[in-house]
Amino acid sequence: MSIVKVSNKGVFGEGEVTFGGSYVPEPLQKALDQVEAAFYRYKDDPDFEQEFQYYLREYVGRPNPLYLAERLTSELGGAKIYLKREDLNHTGAHKINNTIGQVLLAKRMGAKRIIAETGAGQHGVATATVCALFGIPCTIYMGEVDTRRQALNVFRMEMLGAKVVAAKSGNRTLKEAVDEALMDFAQNHEDTFYLLGSAVGPHPYPLMVRHFQSVIGREAKQQILEKEGRLPDVVMACVGGGSNAIGLFYPFVDDASVRIIGVEPAGKGLETGIHAAPLNVGKPGIIHGFKCHVMDEAENCHSIAAGLDYPGVGPEHSYYKEIGRAAYVAVTDDEALNAFLHLSKVEGIIPALESSHAIAYAMKLAPTLSKDQSIIVNLSGRGDKDVAQVYEMLKGNQS
Ligand SMILES: *Cc1c(COP(=O)(O)O)cnc(C)c1O
Repeated sequence: MSIVKVSNKGVFGEGEVTFGGSYVPEPLQKALDQVEAAFYRYKDDPDFEQEFQYYLREYVGRPNPLYLAERLTSELGGAKIYLKREDLNHTGAHKINNTIGQVLLAKRMGAKRIIAETGAGQHGVATATVCALFGIPCTIYMGEVDTRRQALNVFRMEMLGAKVVAAKSGNRTLKEAVDEALMDFAQNHEDTFYLLGSAVGPHPYPLMVRHFQSVIGREAKQQILEKEGRLPDVVMACVGGGSNAIGLFYPFVDDASVRIIGVEPAGKGLETGIHAAPLNVGKPGIIHGFKCHVMDEAENCHSIAAGLDYPGVGPEHSYYKEIGRAAYVAVTDDEALNAFLHLSKVEGIIPALESSHAIAYAMKLAPTLSKDQSIIVNLSGRGDKDVAQVYEMLKGNQS
């Protein structure tokens, strides 16, 4: 029996405080019900699983290594630091695990068209990639402001054959892109599949994204047992919506000896209110149709890492926090930038700014542990996409 109590409607926990679920208008609920039925129909289907594993192996390049960061470890003088190399996946991050899984589900459902939302563009690119792979027409909603900030990612998606639609209402950023994508889905669900990018949103998305991303933790567990002959002492990952984190954490959740640590972006400092750390300072509430910890002032939402910039969080993380199974800490922009530069120098690995948050916390924690202990850090993505941004910041043009 797992310690994780979740209903088949995606409600985490029992009693007064629960997380997840679905709080959406009727037409959208109908669309979600169809996705739920298909997910439960195929999630344990051997043919489906075989096809999923085929593309993870042949297209994504899995399994990726669990790499012992030897120089970083010896310099810090404490626990061994192992990096789970999601950065080596095709397209450079963990997001492709989920987009492959969902596109295969969409295919089984007979979808003629796929839609998705994107903020910085990373999920849009991962979605456009799998739509090109299977020849399915694809529309990506993106806030108009973001289309200008991330012009190169818009071009990348278009190169991959996607149509990018600029959301022009409200603040013209991620929230409006999500709203427009959900509206499209509610209207067109007969032939359209909504491919959601993190372990957030109404049921069944958090459970479905966990299902597809858990390959990270399952591989890491097998690899650490081969290398160390025992479980790790700590598993750690950055938390935006929480998909790379839940993918690593879930296979370890019932191993009571393994500490689980999620690292949120403290932005300019938790005390400034300018961050994206709802588990550290938010309160339970409803956002985008599900219950989770939400930031008080979503308009102050900020992180140096665009992929962590979300005012809510996956409901399973809220639940782990509530039952005390995981700890959620926070790392500032400056600390993440320092880790970005440091890992590049000592290991020859340029991490994504998102992943750099987890690296930064590992650098604090490792010296407090003993040399026979080990930490697995999820290196969720590669930092090539961030090099131009870091260049501008170091030149002093910080915006
Ligand atoms: C999108 C992204 C994240 C944040 O998303 P999660 O759902 O929290 O995993 C983290 N790292 C990288 C490299 C990303 O692209």
